[in-house]
Amino acid sequence: MLSEFDLIKHYFRRARAGHAVLGIGDDCALLAPTPGMQTAISTDMLIEGRHFFAGADPRMLGHKCLAVNLSDLAAMGARPVGFTLALSLPGADPDWLEAFSAGMFALADLHDCELVGGDTTRGPLVVCITVFGEIAPGHALRRDAARAGHDIWISGTLGDARLALAGYWKEIALQPEALALAAPRMHLPTPRVALGRALAVLPTAHAALDISDGLIGDLAHILDASKVGATLDVDALPVGPALARQPLALRRRFTLAGGDDYELCFTAPAGERAAVLAAAGSAGTPVTRVGTIDAQPGLRLVDAAGQALAMDVRGWDHFGGE
Ligand code: ADP
Ligand code: MG
Repeated sequence: MLSEFDLIKHYFRRARAGHAVLGIGDDCALLAPTPGMQTAISTDMLIEGRHFFAGADPRMLGHKCLAVNLSDLAAMGARPVGFTLALSLPGADPDWLEAFSAGMFALADLHDCELVGGDTTRGPLVVCITVFGEIAPGHALRRDAARAGHDIWISGTLGDARLALAGYWKEIALQPEALALAAPRMHLPTPRVALGRALAVLPTAHAALDISDGLIGDLAHILDASKVGATLDVDALPVGPALARQPLALRRRFTLAGGDDYELCFTAPAGERAAVLAAAGSAGTPVTRVGTIDAQPGLRLVDAAGQALAMDVRGWDHFGGE
């Protein structure tokens, strides 16, 4: 049986040199912030049976736990710097730890984001990561920066993660090929770090967030914080390739209120469309314009013909349900 310290040393402390002044091994890590920059900090906790299935593939889980945290940095426009990992484990299973850490570090290395510390304890399987990033003062993509007349944009596509969940839950009869196409969107989300950073350096302030609980519920946070309303063109929403083959009603429901998308929703002045498209191009991330911010409060849904749509869809709320 591995001791707690052997476990940390073997699976989480790496031989390669990092950027931290002092990494894993002491009571605190020491980081040397770039002078003049602000630190962006975010924490996300993932609990077995709540945020991921019991027995989830550990490599994909390692990826996802870090990805959802990096997604928060992306939504702020920050550059990832480092992270801590608090792990509650039912046991020290070497195969599980090997795969989990490999999945996590593969993504960490892609973003040059260093594991600098954490905590390890025995208990139900819970993974809690805190990420640190850097952002130039005044450039963060804040939820209170949306203004009437701004366009609303979405990165990538929506709904496939929710479609996969519907397949697993047998909510709908999903063909195995469709589930195979949708499942990676649920298990291996792509944090839109390059896009967030490219938007953050544009001259005007933009509002942004990452869509984790469904577009409608998450967009409402921007509307609340910015004290504005919005009109959303439901049929302009970019649909994931698996969901695109499903009936219209399901496409609308899962793009609007699916959850687990980890795409960015952001706003920008209508005069900046070319700059937004150039930023997206430089980040290699497709973006789609899906609506406008209005002075009138509330969210209005319209179809491709501009006709009002009455739909009862809400975002995911951990205390209220869907
Ligand atoms: P302390 O007793 O001071 O809380 P610990 O014994 O919990 O320290 O941890 C020893 C060292 O290992 C610390 O530097 C801590 O940050 C690091 N550490 C513990 N668990 C993890 C983990 N899961 N991932 C990365 N570093 C960890
Ligand atoms: Mg400790």
